Amino acid sequence: LKRDYVPHREIPATPDLRRRYDVVIIGGGGHGLAAAHYLSKYHGIRNVAVLEKGYLAGGNTARNTTTIRSNYITNQSIRFYKEAVSLYEDMSHELNFNVMFSQRGQLTLAHSEATLRSFHLRAEMGKHHGTRISVVDPRQVKEICPHLNMDEGGQHEILGGLWHEDGGTARHDAVAWGYAAQAARRGVEIHQRTEVLGFDISGDKVSAIRTSRGTVSVGHVIQAAGGANQHVAKLAGIDMPIRCFPLQAMVTQPLKPFLHTLVSSANLHTYLMQSSRGEIVIGGGSDPYQLISTRSTLDIKEQLAHGAVQLFPFLHNVKLLRQWAGITDMTPDYTPIMGASPLRNYWLDCGWGTWGFKATPVAGKYLADTVANERVADILLPFSLGRFETMALINEMGATAASH
Ligand code: FAD
Repeated sequence: LKRDYVPHREIPATPDLRRRYDVVIIGGGGHGLAAAHYLSKYHGIRNVAVLEKGYLAGGNTARNTTTIRSNYITNQSIRFYKEAVSLYEDMSHELNFNVMFSQRGQLTLAHSEATLRSFHLRAEMGKHHGTRISVVDPRQVKEICPHLNMDEGGQHEILGGLWHEDGGTARHDAVAWGYAAQAARRGVEIHQRTEVLGFDISGDKVSAIRTSRGTVSVGHVIQAAGGANQHVAKLAGIDMPIRCFPLQAMVTQPLKPFLHTLVSSANLHTYLMQSSRGEIVIGGGSDPYQLISTRSTLDIKEQLAHGAVQLFPFLHNVKLLRQWAGITDMTPDYTPIMGASPLRNYWLDCGWGTWGFKATPVAGKYLADTVANERVADILLPFSLGRFETMALINEMGATAASH
């Protein structure tokens, strides 16, 4: 480690609020902190405050299962997430902080011919953009993941897979702490336990932000409030096409290493990976109803356990250590909303639903670029809020499902 290494313990305690900031970022999750890092490091904008109503990165950044991949189906998404993956490849150097990026590959399973056909399309789209992705047959599936139950002749027979070698994981807390530490040492203020309660709006601009610790005037605002995005936007008078659903995950007791890739099955609504501690991290689809709650439920636990045991029957006696939930801000096309809003100095980083951890660096990079230049970065243009009026949707439902 270099001499200027800044561990997360050295992020300064919450200071008093200044009267004015050039940029206020709402939400101290990975996305808000990444934007703060890029603003301060690459654009020299340092009079920045990150306002976080709870504790640093305690929202979905703390709760996600950390899958990073770019195996989407549309040109816009693949281009965007491909850059996200390459930013992860260099992140530990960028932050001088070990984010434990582990590029172990992601295997998505096909249990039907129809799924295989859609995998061919995704693979060809990915190859076109230069990602490492291919359709594999059952023999290759077994080579990649020898302990899988292929269920030959059974209800969930594995007919092949989509093998995405670029896929991986990173330590979620380290990503947030790394960005926070880098931003803080360049003068960005991180205000924990500071909730945004409302806005003063003059004409088509936000002039001030009302918080639980006082009012601050502001040049630009970035909204990156995770599961509260719909609510916070409403405070600014912006109606977002977002609905909130809980998303749950769980981990088992540690086991000897046997699972060296990420494995997911949309049919079973289950995906698994083994953490560096040996725990099996198991995730799946969202709860089937809208709710703003982080409680976890028995029915999802049973569903995830069923999927996990179907794929790896020898897990049937393994004990669960923890189960938890986050509140995900889902859009109708399973694609984020980034860039301009109806207010001229209010920029959106929303709709990250069940898929936004992987986008943390690339969203932060281009949101910072957008604010610094007061012009939406080209790569973000397709993800505008306006696409819901023009119906230029970017449908990524199939690429998301339970596979993240
Ligand atoms: P958050 O980390 O939620 O940060 C937003 C912050 O805003 C919060 O800390 C919150 O307290 C704060 N805030 C809210 N309202 C206010 C307010 N009024 N004032 C001030 N602060 C406020 N994505 C992937 O890419 N891969 C995965 O494998 C994956 N798995 C997931 C598994 C689960 C169980 C869950 C819940 C999510 C998963 N996701 C995954 C999605 C991912 O976690 C999110 O999309 C991502 O973390 C969003 O980051 P963020 O910084 O935008 O939001």
